Amino acid sequence: MRRPIVVGNWKMHGSRAENARLIEELTAKFPADPQALCVVCPPLVYLQDIARLLRGTAILLGAQDVCAEPQGAFTGEISAAMLKDVGCSYVIVGHSERRLLFRESDQAVARKFVAAQAKGLVPILCMGEQLAEREAERTHEVIARQLEAVLKLAGVESLGTAVLAYEPVWAIGTGRNATPEQAQDVHAFIRAQIYARDAKIAALTRVLYGGSVKAVNAAELFAMPDVDGGLIGGASLKADEFLAILSAARAH
Ligand code: PEP
Repeated sequence: MRRPIVVGNWKMHGSRAENARLIEELTAKFPADPQALCVVCPPLVYLQDIARLLRGTAILLGAQDVCAEPQGAFTGEISAAMLKDVGCSYVIVGHSERRLLFRESDQAVARKFVAAQAKGLVPILCMGEQLAEREAERTHEVIARQLEAVLKLAGVESLGTAVLAYEPVWAIGTGRNATPEQAQDVHAFIRAQIYARDAKIAALTRVLYGGSVKAVNAAELFAMPDVDGGLIGGASLKADEFLAILSAARAH
């Protein structure tokens, strides 16, 4: 039984006042007995603030990125140990915005994955194809390549303490989500790739779907057998919307 997870990626949004309001609304209505894990990933500068606001709640804290290096002369970078130190337990690695806008290679993402785990953070590894790749029927090939980079560096056992997220690039922030069938197809493919190496890890590994998830489409996506929750961008900035998505995940 895989306990679903819903992760909110706030991206580069918010302010101290807006964040405090959002957390207050989330925690006020947060279910007393959460059957799904809930993680929020605010911008870096607010992590410590949010860690304080989340104290005593069941909502967990994550970061949106991490440096692959453990410490040293890397101006502007933040290490996994620092994220852990301010209260993070999760970190997103390989979000498509980082892969595409900041030119992170599959290998660079894999190194971040390893750096996160080395300090006890749970990496949320994002993978996904661009529209042209889907149209050229290269989706599975792209996902296999992105996953393989991590498996090669970290080994299949590493997935036992990680979360995967399938995020088709064409669905992120576009309002055009993958259909439940499209999502299930790729999630099943990801699980099959893992199964070929380790059946037990394949059965345990949570694979989230991300890309224009909203309260109106969450239930049908989460009903798919290989979809274990969601990575939510825009809709995670609205408390009622995010909580409705969380309750859709709890129902499965
Ligand atoms: C994301 O940023 O990971 C994401 C899925 O965004 P959105 O939900 O806004 O499409």
